[in-house]
Formats: sequence, C-alpha cells, structure tokens
Amino acid sequence: MSSAAPVPTAVDCIWCRRPFDNRSTHLTLRTRCASCGAATTDPPPTDDELAAAYGDWYRPPAERRFFFAADAILNRSRGLLASRVDQIMPPGPVLDVGAGDGTLIDALRDCGREATGLERNPTRTDLRDAALSEIDGQWAGVIFWHSLEHLPNPGEAIREAARLLLPGGIVIVAVPNNDSLQAQCFGDRWLHLDIPRHLAHLTTRSLRSGLGAAGFKVERVSYVRAGQILIGWLQGLVGLLPGKPDLYQALRREGARGVNQSVGVRMLAIVAAVVLVPVAAAASLVEILLRRSGTVYLEARLL
Ligand SMILES: [Zn+2]
Repeated sequence: MSSAAPVPTAVDCIWCRRPFDNRSTHLTLRTRCASCGAATTDPPPTDDELAAAYGDWYRPPAERRFFFAADAILNRSRGLLASRVDQIMPPGPVLDVGAGDGTLIDALRDCGREATGLERNPTRTDLRDAALSEIDGQWAGVIFWHSLEHLPNPGEAIREAARLLLPGGIVIVAVPNNDSLQAQCFGDRWLHLDIPRHLAHLTTRSLRSGLGAAGFKVERVSYVRAGQILIGWLQGLVGLLPGKPDLYQALRREGARGVNQSVGVRMLAIVAAVVLVPVAAAASLVEILLRRSGTVYLEARLL
C-alpha cells in the first residue's frame, strides 16, 4: 500500500447500510463492516472512473473474449445453470440482472422459460437498459450472476427482487467470496477484488443475513457452482512471478484486454499458468472442501 493511498470516504456499509464506526476495518481501497462482514469499495469510484473501468475491452462479443476453450466452457456452464434454474423455480418468467452478453437468457429460453435480461449499455436489442426499480410484473426468479457486487446498492437490489417475485419465487446469487482462502492468500492482489468494478465485497455470512432480512430463506449454498475458482488461484500464483504478470489479461484476446502487455510477458504468464495448473487445482479442491472457495452461490426462496 503506497503512502499516497486515498483516504476512505464511505460513511456506511454498501450491503447492510449501517454506518461505519471505530469497529470498521480500513483495508486498501475498501472498508469492512463489523456488523455484517461485507466490505465496501472505499473511496467509492467516481462516474468517470467507472466509465473508464468498463471500457469497450471489458465486454466484447461473447465468443471473442478469451483464448483456448474458456469461452466454450462459459457457454456450457450457462446451459447447466439454466436447466437448474428451470427445475427449482415455480412457473413464470425469469429476470437476469446484469445479463452481460445474454448467454444465460438464451440458455433459459432454450429450456422453454420466458426470460428478460437487464444490462447497462446492452450489446443486444432484447436486453433492457433499466434499473430493477423500473421493472414491474411478477417473476418466478431473479438472478444475480456475478452482478450483485457491481451494483451501487446491492441490499436494495435484493429488496427489489423480493418485491418482484411471486410467492415461492427464487433469487439466485453468485459472487466472489471474500471469506475465501484465495482472498486471504492474495490480499489486495486477489483477482476477484476487481476494484473499482466491484463495489461490494461479500461473504456467505453477509449474504445469508442480508437475504434473511429481505424475507428470503436460503435453501442452498454451493462453493462450486459460481465457478471462477481455479482462475483465482492461477492468477494469484502467476502474479507471484518476477514482473507480476497478469494472467487474466494475457488470456484475453486482443481488443478484449484492459492493459498493454508485451508478447514476452503474455507468453510467460500462459506457460507459467499451464505449469501451475496442478497446484491451483489442489488449492481449489482444498478451499471447496473447507467451504471457503473463491466464489459462492446461493439459492434463496421468498417466504
Ligand atoms: Zn454491513
């Protein structure tokens, strides 16, 4: 942490909205709430910083983001999620908040579900650029797939989901797990910290308390389903090498990268990652078994 680190300015917890006090923990670029355990990106990014952080490179067309089979794996995993969603939700339409390129929407429609996606500056005409508060109707399910942590008021988003759901409707949340072993090991360098895009840094405990307070009963917690566990370890381990190569950027195709990277550094990062796969896989297995993996997935039903 540099001596010129910005001074924290957030006054309350982004998740439970209790004011920060002398029990709060100030970390680099975030403050952890003593009440709920969630951390808030602090100081909060300005609109200009967010616009720069969500440059065109961040979300190019679906099949053009990563090298190797990563994009195919992403599509396949959305198909599995869609069939799971279809099984557990009551009849009715599904709302995907932060629909990205619409892969999950497509997979849900393939299952015969009516599905609507919300996304800022959408790349498809069938996704809506709207806030949850602007949505009406009755929904069988609301999905926050790696999106809740991007929202400026995630607790309010959960309450909006409760407003929109039919009785017995389901909310699904997948987020980085800030109580994970990889978060602990890599600290401020952890891949899934992703500041300034991630504004809320949640844990299973904070999610359970927030969902409970909004009238939900958590029915399932998974430390596998939210994915992106292995990449968290690989990124962290590769970043320990001289020059701190950025594997995540090295794996992205040209035009889908947020930083300039020489060919040499890219090759070093990728070769090192291949060599380190067994180590990262073992670490992933350990944190899954300890229920402290890099991401967490929850299903909760509206009571
Ligand atoms: Zn809190």
